[in-house]
Amino acid sequence: MELSCIGVGAGPSNLSLACQMHEQIGQGALFLDRQVDFRWHPGSAFDSSELQVSHFKDLVTLVNPRSAYTFVNYLHENGRLYHFLNAQFEAVLRAEFERYLNWAFHRNPLVRGGETVREIRFDGEFRVRTDNAVLGARNVVVGIGKQAHIPPQFQGWTGRNLFHSSELLHIHAEVHKKHVCVVGGGQSGAEVLLHLVGLPKERRPVSITWVSQRENYLPIDNSPFTNELFMPCFSDRFAAMSESWRKLFLRRFVLASDGISESTLRAIYQALYRHAFLEPNQCEITLRPGCTVSHCINAGAGHRLTLRRRMEVVEEVTADIVILATGYENAEPGFLEPMANRLEKIDNELAIREDFSVCWDGPRDSRIFVQNASLGQRGLADPNLSLLAWRARRILDSLLGRAPRANPEHPGFIGPTSVECWSDTVAEEMGSGI
Ligand SMILES: Cc1cc2nc3c(=O)[nH]c(=O)nc-3n(C[C@H](O)[C@H](O)[C@H](O)COP(=O)(O)OP(=O)(O)OC[C@H]3O[C@@H](n4cnc5c(N)ncnc54)[C@H](O)[C@@H]3O)c2cc1C
Repeated sequence: MELSCIGVGAGPSNLSLACQMHEQIGQGALFLDRQVDFRWHPGSAFDSSELQVSHFKDLVTLVNPRSAYTFVNYLHENGRLYHFLNAQFEAVLRAEFERYLNWAFHRNPLVRGGETVREIRFDGEFRVRTDNAVLGARNVVVGIGKQAHIPPQFQGWTGRNLFHSSELLHIHAEVHKKHVCVVGGGQSGAEVLLHLVGLPKERRPVSITWVSQRENYLPIDNSPFTNELFMPCFSDRFAAMSESWRKLFLRRFVLASDGISESTLRAIYQALYRHAFLEPNQCEITLRPGCTVSHCINAGAGHRLTLRRRMEVVEEVTADIVILATGYENAEPGFLEPMANRLEKIDNELAIREDFSVCWDGPRDSRIFVQNASLGQRGLADPNLSLLAWRARRILDSLLGRAPRANPEHPGFIGPTSVECWSDTVAEEMGSGI
């Protein structure tokens, strides 16, 4: 049977689409995920990690608050709505949001876990090959998330003593009495540091150095007007800008998505206070903001890192264990290899149209949609939960051949003219070295 659509991956992006499809058309689509149970970035799922956005930014609420797949309905069906309110969490724990996602994953009959997509070919329809079957579909939606970004100076050294933060809880590195260096001053680096300093005394490292390129450990900008960047209308305005403007914007507003939550910053500062004044000499913590690791070489069982500030070498750090909290990049969709030369690219991204379908030379009614792979074309909200439900609805509208919705459906308070004026200011600031 030919399906109207096969989703590759059923993480939050494709799961949102699966939930909206299930409620609106009920059948004709299948979402395949290699995980049997949905685990949300399990290698960095620290006990205290919190969601960096409102729980209204769940799989469906922002496009259909009446859906059965809302976070609130998950709380209700699992008998904890009152308790959740009484607990007065400042932010939803990531562990709880993961349970919500897994609940939706299993509740939705269009989702099939334990299926890894190996290859997709096109011969008039898409043929999707997994380990167990070859399935035919009119369209495919790729939602495979990101992969760890390892900067070039660390490539070749990865292993048990040098690894990405996304693997920290899988690798079970023995940090006790070791010198540890954490590289990266965003939320992941902050969470790794907090995890290390929170280990029981008998498991703690002897020293931790925390290196960040940014001039300080900077908070996420979660303020009301900055949050207009995470509205559908801004995603469309961003897409309409020239490539060079888009690049400037991403750099200028990076803290709107890549800064550290204030609660994490506070918890780190309080931990440093305890280490400095209440439990001294247990673990030496050295902060190195404003520094880049320019070189990394193997030194015995560990590594020697060269830290630079601008062009000057400021320090050599020797570490038994190096943890790279250096972010994520688009995952390579290797299964698209048979069609790779038919897909258009912009920089390192697949070029997409307004409906998130890839520009390719195949028939217009056979489309390959991509989710969470177009930061450079759709802006800072692309990898984030904020526009997940809206993007999935736009894809669904396109799959169903529905007329495009009024644009902008929810205009922001900052209108298009102000955004143009931002562009000028941003250009001036960037030009003057910000
Ligand atoms: C540690 C961490 C914390 C985050 N916290 C937040 C937050 O608080 N707020 C926020 O807005 N954003 C957050 N993000 C951003 C986050 O990436 C998104 O929220 C979300 O997980 C993206 O969903 P996704 O479905 O695009 O990708 P993923 O969640 O990565 O899901 C992709 C899915 O595809 C499956 N898959 C991959 N390849 C195949 C294949 N070949 N065949 C079958 N299945 C496959 C994987 O098993 C996975 O289930 C966080 C990111 C990280 C790394």
